[in-house]
Amino acid sequence: MFVWMIWLSTQVSWTMNSKLKRNWHWETTPTIEICPDSNISIYQVVDALEYWIGQGVAVPIQGVHKVQHCNPKKKNVIQVNAHIDFDRTQYNAVTDIKWYNYGQKNDQTIYYIDHCQIQLPNDRLGEIEIVWHEFEHALGLGHSRHEIMQKVY
Ligand SMILES: [Zn+2]
Repeated sequence: MFVWMIWLSTQVSWTMNSKLKRNWHWETTPTIEICPDSNISIYQVVDALEYWIGQGVAVPIQGVHKVQHCNPKKKNVIQVNAHIDFDRTQYNAVTDIKWYNYGQKNDQTIYYIDHCQIQLPNDRLGEIEIVWHEFEHALGLGHSRHEIMQKVY
């Protein structure tokens, strides 16, 4: 974990895969919290982040922690839950982004994330493309022609 963070911090000038589409930015450096109901491992989270680093998505992360309680009002955090409230007949997993912006909205507006909640049911954790897909939303990217981001899960 420590080694990985040092490595990440040196990777700032990579070019993002041109098929990817950035919708939101992190203005702050978020922490990742694994909430008590989720069985995802820290290793699996790091694996997802490393996949996206390999695609040129360099979003600094403060750390990945298993926590006893996830406060839904906390800022600067990506929280990973199992299943809370989405329709499982329609979706496999859901990522909710809370964002803000400065000034009036126009074409140039930058949208910043301050809270992200990933709902990844425990029986979907074996499907790596779903896990990678949801983490990519959490890093600020939307659906696109990229192989992992073109499907809607
Ligand atoms: Zn999606």
